[in-house]
Amino acid sequence: MIEADERKVKQILYNLLSNAVKFTPDGGSVTISAEVISPNSTDLPAKIRKGLTGTDYVLVSVKDTGIGIAKKDQSKIFTEFHQIEEPYAKKYEGTGLGLALSKKLVTLHGGKIWFESKGKDKGCTFYFILPLKSSPKA
Ligand code: ADP
Repeated sequence: MIEADERKVKQILYNLLSNAVKFTPDGGSVTISAEVISPNSTDLPAKIRKGLTGTDYVLVSVKDTGIGIAKKDQSKIFTEFHQIEEPYAKKYEGTGLGLALSKKLVTLHGGKIWFESKGKDKGCTFYFILPLKSSPKA
């Protein structure tokens, strides 16, 4: 049970799941999971732990076995309208807004969003955390 804006949390999940499905060719898989996590858990990357407050969080992950994200593109994908301009990624339609919006919504909830990918064709996992109790930022 978390305290959050239900429609906005659905929107974040919808964005991540639709990307996972879109960027995963037939025969691949998409896995979603959720757990409660404390802000000082070493399961969180150090840069994510930094600045978190005392409350517990829910950690949601959406993992896919799709086209992955090349190292050189990894810093840009949360930027509005950014889509990877590589032939292998260009055939996928979209607006380039989903992740930028998801990041805004997560941040407004006092949470964080990030991802891991070992590179092109190696799949990727998107993660976000939201505090269990809301303390929205303006
Ligand atoms: P859109 O999906 O509409 O293009 P997003 O903001 O949701 O826009 O994503 C930005 C870009 O990040 C995508 O165009 C794609 O290049 C990359 N991306 C997002 N999710 C994934 C994913 N699960 N696997 C591979 N690339 C992804």
